[in-house]
Amino acid sequence: MADITANLAEIRGRLEEATKRSGRDLADVELMVVSKTWPVSVIEEAVEAGQVLFGENKVQDAGEKISQMSPELRWHFIGHLQRNKVRKVLPLVEAVHSIDSVKLARYCDTIAKELGLSPAVYLEVNLGGEEKKHGFTKGELESALTELRELQNIRIAGLMCIPPIEEDAGKARGWFVALRELRDELERQTGVVLPGLSMGMSHDYEVAIEEGATIVRVGSAVFGKRIKPATD
Ligand SMILES: *Cc1c(COP(=O)(O)O)cnc(C)c1O
Repeated sequence: MADITANLAEIRGRLEEATKRSGRDLADVELMVVSKTWPVSVIEEAVEAGQVLFGENKVQDAGEKISQMSPELRWHFIGHLQRNKVRKVLPLVEAVHSIDSVKLARYCDTIAKELGLSPAVYLEVNLGGEEKKHGFTKGELESALTELRELQNIRIAGLMCIPPIEEDAGKARGWFVALRELRDELERQTGVVLPGLSMGMSHDYEVAIEEGATIVRVGSAVFGKRIKPATD
């Protein structure tokens, strides 16, 4: 059984060190604890250790867990989002990290309006151009943003990536730099402000922070290895 309290303390310490190394403000980086596959009883330990923001990747699981836990907690959705789940997920979460098409964004906007919500959304970028992964390709983003900027009921928070797996966190750095540079370029091209960079997981969150992550998504470093498959 993982010592969740100790793990969280260590991660928070490393996160702070990474902000110091890179001359960033601690307040500019959020730690999202990815609680997918873990039951409420386990997640409660992280809550007791002071964690408030959690990430889930399946709508059904998220709904069940959120209904059983304190309303003070904050939740983000990080899994592949199907159109038929949008209506269910938007009332549960404050942000969706996995918007991967203009069509999905438009549909979220429509449903958000109907429900009187204004969720934050991150555009997921398939940086490595991997066939099995979701997300916009780099080339699609400029025109996507000029369309999405018109939508009134979703707030474009920034970009998100799940880069190809690198054994060595140093190699992940290149992907994080690429996402940051892409963000800078898109801001210049479109004038749309993209403040958020959702990047960095258990094995590379420190490097991601050094390269500008504003929110890191950390699961197994908190809870230990997942037993159930983690894919969506
Ligand atoms: C599972 C998952 C994470 C967390 O991964 P760990 O390696 O366990 O930290 C982060 N982001 C997304 C999108 C995930 O699906």
